[in-house]
Amino acid sequence: SITPATLSAISNGAKLGILFKGGVHIEGLAKIKAVALDKTGTLTKGEPEITDLIVREGITHESFLIYTASIENHSTHPLAQAIVNHTKFEQKLKLVQPDFIEDIPGLGVIGKVNGKEFKIGNAEFVGLQLSEVFLKKSGEKIIKDGKTLVFVADQDGIVGVIALKDHLREQSKEAVLQLKKLGIYTMMLTGDDEETAKVISKEMSVDGYISRCLPKDKLNYVKNLKQQHENVSMVGDGINDAPAMATANLGIAMGGGTDVALETADIILMKNDLSKLPRAIHLSKKMNKII
Ligand code: ADP
Ligand code: MG
Repeated sequence: SITPATLSAISNGAKLGILFKGGVHIEGLAKIKAVALDKTGTLTKGEPEITDLIVREGITHESFLIYTASIENHSTHPLAQAIVNHTKFEQKLKLVQPDFIEDIPGLGVIGKVNGKEFKIGNAEFVGLQLSEVFLKKSGEKIIKDGKTLVFVADQDGIVGVIALKDHLREQSKEAVLQLKKLGIYTMMLTGDDEETAKVISKEMSVDGYISRCLPKDKLNYVKNLKQQHENVSMVGDGINDAPAMATANLGIAMGGGTDVALETADIILMKNDLSKLPRAIHLSKKMNKII
């Protein structure tokens, strides 16, 4: 049964922009000892901008962007959205209907346009060595500085690479500081590469990070954290975070996240404002005292 204290906590939470899918989750918050955090869309805004574009000799930027964006148009990933917006609205290019596409969470997307098949995603997805050779041979230097690289490959190898820079969420940074003050261990789990993960984790001052996580890796790290810290929360926004969110004692979704993340979560941060989390933990501790 729901006590008046729980009801009042739920309504206070709503005023703060925190949606609890049940009173039990408010009590659960007070016990959290570690928080795992997704990077793209959670610690960062998930609205990256294209900063660099390198394509293979003999291919125009236009055709490269058209087939890449036409495939990405059917992916829910924040990087996909950025590539589509750039192509459609900044370059004013027309997209085409792909023959098929398949989203591979944590890695990228495969698709076919005009009878040609492409792989779009991180270096691992298109081949680590191929991507390194391509970057070296292109002669253009991308200063990474926390940027994410998206490679595009066809049967003949790498066709091009797009570098994207995301913006940090200041409220998430504040949240990490407050969580640490509460004695809670913070850990970033990301599908992005080591170099990018290192830069962002430092800027966000999380206690630890793991790069190149597939959805099942995120899940396994949350399991590990549970063994070490007992009560663990996972905060995320994507399909790739959902298994880890379901395994955590408390799954928390950013309000702007994908449907699967919102459905899996126990708690939703309506305005994507992670700084509400430490406040909610305060609230929860107070309420537990009252009960
Ligand atoms: P995070 O865990 O930081 O939210 P993801 O697991 O969603 O990141 O993605 C990991 C990496 O996989 C991205 O950094 C990107 O390189 C690649 N990737 C995933 N989906 C896509 C996509 N639709 N288009 C391009 N790259 C993608
Ligand atoms: Mg994400």
